[in-house]
Amino acid sequence: MQQRKKAFLAALVLFLALLTGGAQAVEKGYTVFHGDREKNMIALTVDDCYDSERVAEVLELCEKYDVPVTFFVIGSALQDADAALWARALELGCEIGNHTWSHPKLPSLDARRIYQQLTRTQTRLDEVLGFHYPMQVMRPPYGSLAKDAHHMSDGWVVNAIAEAGYLHAVRWDVSQTDPEKAVKDVQNGSILLYHANTKDVRCLEKLIPALLTDYTCVTVSELLALPAPAYEAPETPV
Ligand SMILES: [Zn+2]
Repeated sequence: MQQRKKAFLAALVLFLALLTGGAQAVEKGYTVFHGDREKNMIALTVDDCYDSERVAEVLELCEKYDVPVTFFVIGSALQDADAALWARALELGCEIGNHTWSHPKLPSLDARRIYQQLTRTQTRLDEVLGFHYPMQVMRPPYGSLAKDAHHMSDGWVVNAIAEAGYLHAVRWDVSQTDPEKAVKDVQNGSILLYHANTKDVRCLEKLIPALLTDYTCVTVSELLALPAPAYEAPETPV
């Protein structure tokens, strides 16, 4: 009797799972390419961050023009020696997002490994910073969220990301390192993709002041109307 009851319950769970499309699906709009097209806000993003010196140059631009950048960091590239660099990024109003541990194409992994790629990077960031900074947006390496490049995203990939606690998988609508062309590509709500390398920093030097005549630069979270990540940094010694 007990066995039959179990079998019935298992069949019921399976039926409900099929009815709802498997594991609970993330909301439409979970993966984003841009923010609100009605508001003149845009977000500058800088990925990978292998080169701390280039990150420092981006921060100088943030300070000079009073604009935040969202850095999507690779966990394995985070250096203990860069604790002050990342603390400064946060002080300047920048955001830090997750760009996985080792930059794999996520659809080539299974759900457990996708989850680990994200949680390991969060642990490493906290270790480097010396406090917990809860990353809430992530960027998939290569913008890849589907096995078939013609598909927008595979449900099981975005579900694995959501399970690791991420509110959005963030792609971009502008990827252009020629500042004059980039200015033309940008529109309300744009998310711009850059990397911490010399060419991109040179582009940002010209691009940021040009953009500020028409747009307000905000973090990715602000662009997507999310509350800012809540954290408490220890007082910086004077
Ligand atoms: Zn990358």
